[in-house]
Amino acid sequence: MDFRYLGNSGLKVSEISYGNWLTHGSQVENEQAKACVKAALEAGITTFDTADTYANTKAESVLGEALEGVRRESVEILTKVYWPTGPGGPNDTGLSRKHIHESINASLKRLKTDYVDVYQAHRYDTETPLEETMEAFADVVRQGKALYIGTSEWTAEQLQEGHRLARELRIPLVSNQPQYSMLWRVIEAEVVPASEELGIGQVVFSPIAQGVLTGKYLPGQQPPEGSRATDEKGGANMITRYLNDDVLTRVQQLKPIAEEAGLSLAQLAITWVLQNPNVSSAIIGASRPEQVTENVKAAGVKLEEGQLKQIDEALGSV
Ligand code: NDP
Repeated sequence: MDFRYLGNSGLKVSEISYGNWLTHGSQVENEQAKACVKAALEAGITTFDTADTYANTKAESVLGEALEGVRRESVEILTKVYWPTGPGGPNDTGLSRKHIHESINASLKRLKTDYVDVYQAHRYDTETPLEETMEAFADVVRQGKALYIGTSEWTAEQLQEGHRLARELRIPLVSNQPQYSMLWRVIEAEVVPASEELGIGQVVFSPIAQGVLTGKYLPGQQPPEGSRATDEKGGANMITRYLNDDVLTRVQQLKPIAEEAGLSLAQLAITWVLQNPNVSSAIIGASRPEQVTENVKAAGVKLEEGQLKQIDEALGSV
């Protein structure tokens, strides 16, 4: 496994991280979830991503259990705050001082740890003054409950403003967690250039577009049994944006490029996001330990200009 600095901080994260959205506490039984975490640790992954809202808190609990007995100093744990973790009262959403303080304490309990390495704003809160949010994050950092602050899916402008306040408060806002894959390149236009200037690294999610970039979904055919697209607990709704024949046909055109590079399609897709120097880590998900073992081999691979061009040509404007 190779490691990268998280933005311009001194924290090293594994190039490939493991995340448990839609799987732990939901699609996947706890023993299988723990086997995935074990496979991740064995493959050299040190960085683990979750959120309080995943499976209404169950995902954090499962990860906390799976990491029990692992030396705390040997892993980086990232979690998030914003969305409610249950039916929800008026203060159970957003980035108010109240919700941040209550949420971090609950997350630490579930994760069975005294601190998280990165505490992330799961989304931007347009209703709460940003000053209030950043001051609450500053308290969390000063109390030692989080070492670094991150965001998720913030725009370039939101990152600039958040970073300005973080500097005033002398707290490290060092990462942003956006969606990024060959099929979803939105951050390249504004978020990446702004982040490079600010010293913010991207910890990108869904690098294989939730499984679509493995090539296992075929145009004109039913999704394979047991895949996320058939997961009625929630996954099926999330993946539909990619499941159309045009996208699936183009994905199939990537197969010879992967074969030529000696990679599986999933490995090609993961290593593709890692070619962007502003990406600190790619968070992979997995429903089975074998997927982790396969996907992690994407770390450290260098793609050549010619290969990147072939990929662009195969995908066209999807
Ligand atoms: P991926 O794009 O890596 O998709 C993972 C899924 O693809 C697996 O659960 C599995 O689903 C399938 N898969 C993985 N490897 C293989 C393989 N080798 N062969 C066949 N199928 C495979 O990432 P996710 O969409 O799961 O997101 C990763 C993490 O990113 C999340 O856990 C979370 O931590 C974070 N995230 C953050 C968000 C945010 O708003 N900040 C939003 C979304 C995710 P299956 O077997 O069921 O088909």
